[in-house]
Amino acid sequence: MEKKKKGEKRKMVIGIDVGGTKTALGLFDENRRLVAERRGASDPALPPEAFFDGLIEEIKLLADQGGAALSQVRGVGLGMPSFILFEKGHIVKTSNLVKLRDFPARAYLADRLGVPVVLDNDSHAAALAEHRSGAGRGHENMVYCAVSTGISSGFIIGGKLFRGSYGWAGESGHMIVTPDEGILCGCGNRGCLMSWCSGSMIVKHIRKWLEEGETSLMTELAGGAARIDCSHLEAAYDGGDALAARALSQMARYLGIWFFNLYSALNINCFVLGGGLLNMGEKLLLPVRREFDRYNRSEMPVYFKEAELKDRFGIIGAAELFSHEHLLR
Ligand SMILES: [Zn+2]
Repeated sequence: MEKKKKGEKRKMVIGIDVGGTKTALGLFDENRRLVAERRGASDPALPPEAFFDGLIEEIKLLADQGGAALSQVRGVGLGMPSFILFEKGHIVKTSNLVKLRDFPARAYLADRLGVPVVLDNDSHAAALAEHRSGAGRGHENMVYCAVSTGISSGFIIGGKLFRGSYGWAGESGHMIVTPDEGILCGCGNRGCLMSWCSGSMIVKHIRKWLEEGETSLMTELAGGAARIDCSHLEAAYDGGDALAARALSQMARYLGIWFFNLYSALNINCFVLGGGLLNMGEKLLLPVRREFDRYNRSEMPVYFKEAELKDRFGIIGAAELFSHEHLLR
């Protein structure tokens, strides 16, 4: 650990967003201003020690870039697409980075950096970011919903992030909606919500329909059924394609059910929606809202808002993870 200079205060916070393919790091000053930023690839082939050793090097480079010593850093917040035992800072498993499993990541990093580390799920980080500085500002209770390749959420209850007993509150994309029916999801179950409507799963449904003899513009747009992704789905929908319309309506149906179930369980009236699929805008959101309203029997207002923090929400949220924990203690 570097020596702390006399009179030097620990003011900076580092936020790190580890994604399935990319990692981003941000150095923030005491006014939450971003002073330095780095981006790199996440290598899924690396075992945990090598992965985190690489991250430590990146953290040092980031501090250098921002003209700061590690001794000026109050703490590091790290958001990951993982199941994390929060109290222990232990990674149970990670989507897309399958080698990052069963690893005491917080202790590993904190010991080597000499700086406190807070490690949490990336949806929790995003929920904190949107609550503190984005679309959830001013809402005592809020659900952040990530709709992308996968589906997950983060709950803010009474102004605080709710983690649950072990740390994975918000993994609501794996709630079962059609028991044992449908496509097998990475969670190990059939019939979970995201198996019907996430970006990667809807493409599997489309391929299945094509194998069953349906036809679609998407095949031509993508240059073959195997290459279809959500961009082709949207383009085909805009071109009046019937199969794309069927896919979109299936997504809207299950997303509407998801929001209604969360609303029923928690009675939180502010949903902040983030993630790549929302680029589809109203063509997805209007039918989702219609589905929600079909089930909702109350007249009380329910707000659906688009996430406001764009591509930097990951590092902002990760830094917020540290600040949130620090404020609570
Ligand atoms: Zn699942």
